[in-house]
Amino acid sequence: MTRVYNFSAGPAALPEPVLRQAAEEMLDWHGVGCGVMEMSHRGKEFTAIVEQAEADFRELLAIPAGYKVLFLQGGATQQFAQIPMNLLAGGSADYLVTGSWSKKAYKEAQHIAAAIGGSVRLAGSTESEAFTRLLRADEISLDPNAAYVHLCTNETIHGVELRDADDLPATSAPIVADMSSHILSRPVDVSRYGMIYAGAQKNIGPSGLVMVVIRDDLLGRAAAVTPSVMDYRVMADNGSMLNTPPTYAIYIAGLVFRWLKAQGGLAAIEARAVEKAKLLYDLLDTNPFYENRVAPASRSRMNVPFLLRDESLNEAFLAGAREAGLTQLKGHKSVGGMRASIYNAMPLAGVAALVDYMRDFAARHG
Ligand SMILES: *Cc1c(COP(=O)(O)O)cnc(C)c1O
Repeated sequence: MTRVYNFSAGPAALPEPVLRQAAEEMLDWHGVGCGVMEMSHRGKEFTAIVEQAEADFRELLAIPAGYKVLFLQGGATQQFAQIPMNLLAGGSADYLVTGSWSKKAYKEAQHIAAAIGGSVRLAGSTESEAFTRLLRADEISLDPNAAYVHLCTNETIHGVELRDADDLPATSAPIVADMSSHILSRPVDVSRYGMIYAGAQKNIGPSGLVMVVIRDDLLGRAAAVTPSVMDYRVMADNGSMLNTPPTYAIYIAGLVFRWLKAQGGLAAIEARAVEKAKLLYDLLDTNPFYENRVAPASRSRMNVPFLLRDESLNEAFLAGAREAGLTQLKGHKSVGGMRASIYNAMPLAGVAALVDYMRDFAARHG
């Protein structure tokens, strides 16, 4: 068996030790005679798995008291609807649009607000600049009475990342952040957010699962039409198990959390992410064969879109990469070119192999 270096934006590569452990435990988890997928979600074995996963997640992110951690379903996209259903409460919400994902969230919120009452405001957008940078503070106009402010802290498609909590807009309204594609890649001051959410398939585990971290005072505001499984308070009151949760996805997420702790936690993970990203951006900035159009201060450490200056070589680039064991490098169709997603599970050696291949390809075709 040969495993490739998989640069997929999501579902993305998982840490190999996690996959090996899951394989070993597939038929018989800890001697109970069946696998995790076959267990009752209310039995003591699975209860131990989910409790440990939550404890490890809380420890990694240093989540303060006063926040619930929910294991929900439907991916981050379902949250685009659930957030206004739960938090709009007939008021107005501000949306910052800095890429495809925050734009989708904004559109969905408009759709929900039209149905349940309330309104949604565009509080800033970089769309006219093709989402190649973050918003500056002077471009953001916030409503001081907003029910919440929504933003996406890492735009997976455009490769734009808000890294420093100090760059958050100054507001007394709760900040709701889609962190799907960079959660657990660096420490975060959770206390600055009302809610953080992340689809699992980028940096946590299998698709379908979505992690929600929500401040207690934001529970219990859902619109009357909100289905029970979509109501944060109902799910919090039921330990995310009003119905059957995605048990296997939670188990894998738990293994990933353990692995992250064994790597030294988020400070150590961040140091590795900085090193990996620097290796790739340095090549993009010094080799005229390639180009990354994102403003340097806004560049994502997780998702690195880039272009070949001669786009007629795209197919040859991808075919050669596949031969070298470097896969899933094709860019998102809305942006074109290439994209290397270098999440926590991508080892430095994988990025080094990519950079070597890119240097070599440029030398051969430049
Ligand atoms: C992938 C992604 C989503 C959508 O996740 P689904 O699980 O497909 O719903 C939303 N936001 C961001 C930032 C993403 O990267």
